[in-house]
Amino acid sequence: MAEIYDIAIIGAGPAGANAALTASEQGCRVVVIDEQSKAGGQVWRVKSAAIAKAPDTPETVAGNALRDALSISHAVHMSDTQVWQIEREADDWAIYVLAAGRSRKIMSRALVLASGAREFVQPVPGWTTPGVVGLAGATALIKQDMTLPGQRTVVSGTGPLVFFVASEVRRHGGTVAAIVTPNHRTEWLRAMPFMAARPDLLWRGSIWIADLMLARVPIFWGYAVSEVSGGDTVTSVEVCKLGPYGAPIGRVSTIHADSVCLGNGLIPAIEAAQLAGVPLEHRPDLGGWVPRADSDGKTSIAGLFVCGDSAGIRGAAAAEIHGKLAGLSACAFVGKGPSVAPVGMQRRYARAARFGMAMTALSIPKPGSDGLTTPQTIMCRCESLTRDDITTEIAAGAQSSNAVKSGLRAGMGPCGGKFCQSAIARLIAKTEGRPETDVPPPTPRPPLRPVPTAALAGDFDYADLPIPKPAPL
Ligand SMILES: Cc1cc2nc3c(=O)[nH]c(=O)nc-3n(C[C@H](O)[C@H](O)[C@H](O)COP(=O)(O)OP(=O)(O)OC[C@H]3O[C@@H](n4cnc5c(N)ncnc54)[C@H](O)[C@@H]3O)c2cc1C
Repeated sequence: MAEIYDIAIIGAGPAGANAALTASEQGCRVVVIDEQSKAGGQVWRVKSAAIAKAPDTPETVAGNALRDALSISHAVHMSDTQVWQIEREADDWAIYVLAAGRSRKIMSRALVLASGAREFVQPVPGWTTPGVVGLAGATALIKQDMTLPGQRTVVSGTGPLVFFVASEVRRHGGTVAAIVTPNHRTEWLRAMPFMAARPDLLWRGSIWIADLMLARVPIFWGYAVSEVSGGDTVTSVEVCKLGPYGAPIGRVSTIHADSVCLGNGLIPAIEAAQLAGVPLEHRPDLGGWVPRADSDGKTSIAGLFVCGDSAGIRGAAAAEIHGKLAGLSACAFVGKGPSVAPVGMQRRYARAARFGMAMTALSIPKPGSDGLTTPQTIMCRCESLTRDDITTEIAAGAQSSNAVKSGLRAGMGPCGGKFCQSAIARLIAKTEGRPETDVPPPTPRPPLRPVPTAALAGDFDYADLPIPKPAPL
């Protein structure tokens, strides 16, 4: 028998956990499902047991408060549990989850998607060398396990994350060989009026930059990593100057390093929304393709809500309030709680979203940045496909993400296209001279996460198969 809830929530980050808390306060039976072992999502990731005694950071404090609130709430938190399929069954939602190697089904009347974001890395020659990690991925390594990417690291990427990661590398005893950012100082100055709305974060960011400048860490403004060299590990990194639209224009310098953090902003994780059938829209200001939804999380599908970064990259502060708004919308749908969210909550969300979107504007890749991907650069890591392989397929008539996927298997490997699809869609648009709006992501297919066949087979055992006696000779 499937477990039945009023509201199921996918993701226990700031958005999903707050949706769960809000909905359970209104008397709903709530389950919040997350593949991580503790709530907190990407930003408020819990420290592992090995570093539990390390001093708390603002992120651990916020995460601990959230985890404490969740633990005393009536919401059921299913941790270490992956959602791999979502289906409509009459008026309810059937959510298939994988936990401890077994698949099972959960039913709910309303479904809130709060599955967060993933990072975008523009492929450059050598980006698959061991020692290259995602810029956002590096925050996970450092926060959860205090593990540094290497001893001497080039930290490269857009937006505020590049300064956060560089200062964290230094705080944990690593050397930052250089910071390389496609942003210019003038772009940061233009973002200042929005940042003034969060003096606490502005102050924190100023401390990171002051520390890096005092330590004389070289900062390459308006530059990008153009090549990573090395074999079993990184040995050096080439950086090049970028033109006004982000295309490489020469002036190459070489920096010696054993590791690189590389990132070009975040992309909303929309696969769950796609599987549930929510119409998408292309919003570069929110990180790319997003599910169409109102500010209170309502979508055009009855009983389906999206919030947080999976509804568009607006940052953690906005995700927290967006989760509460979506939680209230889901409660209203199941007939519990107020039918309209408090006006003050809507206003706080709008203010936080303005700040977050100013950071997103600094983080999104510039149109010329795909010039960093040379013809021989691997774009699809799972299938080892180069840019050349993909442009040849496009020239042969593959004009959509689906066509490139079915022709070359790009996106059919273990990552399910999470690493390559955005770069491939941008390449199709550029090669064909079409707007990116014309090249939507491929049709979503289950499973959302890899599922072992044994989990689907359940208790089936080959030994139980009746084996007919050999026929008499
Ligand atoms: C790798 C990474 C690191 C980041 N680090 C920072 C940072 O240091 N500072 C910062 O300000 N911002 C950071 N961000 C941005 C940050 O994620 C958000 O602004 C904020 O956490 C958004 O909250 P959210 O609740 O919308 O999503 P998240 O916090 O991302 O939470 C989403 C949750 O959904 C779960 N989930 C997704 N799909 C499934 C599934 N199929 N089954 C089960 N569980 C699922 C995930 O495990 C995750 O816990 C990072 C983003 C990424 C991708």
